[in-house]
Amino acid sequence: MADFKAWRVFEEDGKFAGRITPQSFGDLPEGDVLIRVDHSSLNFKDALSASGNKGVTRNFPHTPGIDAAGEVVESASNDLPKGSHVIVTGYDLGMETDGGFGQYIRVPRGWCVQMPTGWDSRTAMVYGTAGLTAALCVNKLIEAGLAKGQGPVLVTGASGGVGSVAVELLTSQGFDVVAVSGKPDQADALKKHGAVRIEGREFLEETKKPVLKPEFAGAVDTVGGPPLAEIIKRLMPGGSVAACGLAAGTGIPTAVFPFILRGVNLLGVDSVEIPLSRKESMWKKLSGEWRCPISEEDARVIGMDQLQDALSAFLKGEAHGRVVLAHD
Ligand code: NDP
Repeated sequence: MADFKAWRVFEEDGKFAGRITPQSFGDLPEGDVLIRVDHSSLNFKDALSASGNKGVTRNFPHTPGIDAAGEVVESASNDLPKGSHVIVTGYDLGMETDGGFGQYIRVPRGWCVQMPTGWDSRTAMVYGTAGLTAALCVNKLIEAGLAKGQGPVLVTGASGGVGSVAVELLTSQGFDVVAVSGKPDQADALKKHGAVRIEGREFLEETKKPVLKPEFAGAVDTVGGPPLAEIIKRLMPGGSVAACGLAAGTGIPTAVFPFILRGVNLLGVDSVEIPLSRKESMWKKLSGEWRCPISEEDARVIGMDQLQDALSAFLKGEAHGRVVLAHD
């Protein structure tokens, strides 16, 4: 008998496609906590999982969804009783462990963050892994010495999930944000999020020069590859770039000169396997002084039946802003 529905991806004749599938609680993995998922959200990694990218998910059928927020309905953990509201992001959720595109998940207690006071699951999922990653990037830049008044801060992949939250968050903290985006039709949205200047992707076209005019005090790079190398060449002395993504490539074709002549910093950002306490501190900030009302207002909410199209948009580079999945 079916206990709930999940959007499961099946591998058939070498092709991967998702469909709404009845599931029972017995289908879920072992874990301390059974959670009724009210909302999930869409991230680039979900699109990779759903399209059979073996670097993310090896075993199918599989329920993607690296983010989930909802209510604990069964618990083997005294400090997270039934009725608690939680956020789960990262670790193995949605990779090999069935994720938030199902109406229920079962996970270890150590993956669960208590829902911040005053928040609901929809609000938490507007941020999701993308918002958490944006916050971790901004936090790392500030820890590395970025401060107001030093110069503009660049954000790449600015119309995407991580990028759009990063633009708003940096703006709210008093930085002048230059947004790099390949989507001219998102210019108004980026200005609404606070960008003071918008550049096309050609702004970071690969050059052979070892260093360029130092223009940026810091940067959040969500795309990697040659654009990241060009950012490094344009950082002011002592400036930092927080790098979290790979949409434009995995290699970084840079010489050592920006590092040894200008002392710039390349800061790696991982939102997945970091200690739960670090995630908790970022969620506290995001639900408080780092809240992003425009991202909350602009997020689109979809149902399970719209998942396939919405995930395809990520792979085509057409996704923009944040997309929340609501379970009925
Ligand atoms: P999105 O797809 O929402 O955003 C990525 C954006 O990158 C796109 O919207 C587009 O923005 C830009 N882009 C896409 N393709 C290219 C390309 N070929 N060259 C240059 N720019 C491109 O993804 P997310 O925001 O969910 O994730 C962003 C990145 O961060 C991904 O690579 C993802 O894997 C990574 N990530 C890493 C995490 C970590 O823990 N390290 C956690 C979360 C995400 P535009 O059109 O505006 O240029």
